[in-house]
Amino acid sequence: MDLSHLRLKMRYLARERLRMENRLLMHERLARGCLVRVRTRCGQPNCRCKKSDKYRHGPHLYLSVNVDGKTRMIHVPKAWVAQTEGWVKSAQSYRKTRKEWLKIQKNLWKVFMQMEQLKTQELPYGP
Ligand SMILES: [Zn+2]
Repeated sequence: MDLSHLRLKMRYLARERLRMENRLLMHERLARGCLVRVRTRCGQPNCRCKKSDKYRHGPHLYLSVNVDGKTRMIHVPKAWVAQTEGWVKSAQSYRKTRKEWLKIQKNLWKVFMQMEQLKTQELPYGP
């Protein structure tokens, strides 16, 4: 690849990188973990949830989060369900974009290395 092609490639990658950076900046809040819906049995002895799985309560939404290698289930209050779903979705999108950003960054590094090789010509003097 010659220098002009490398320049074009570099400009393209830089534009893509900027696009990823703008995407990363637009997220306001992110939630770790993933959402799990759980149907539970209560503690009341005569409740019908004791009789069959189909009478279990819920589903209740939990955020399953890994803390120091342990999975913690955090109950999501009903009033926060929609927002939490949005934050989890945002976090997934953020991670994906961050990986794309790194891929572009690595490609840019390769382009600059190739440029360096092409620009490093033999000196007009010397051995
Ligand atoms: Zn019950």
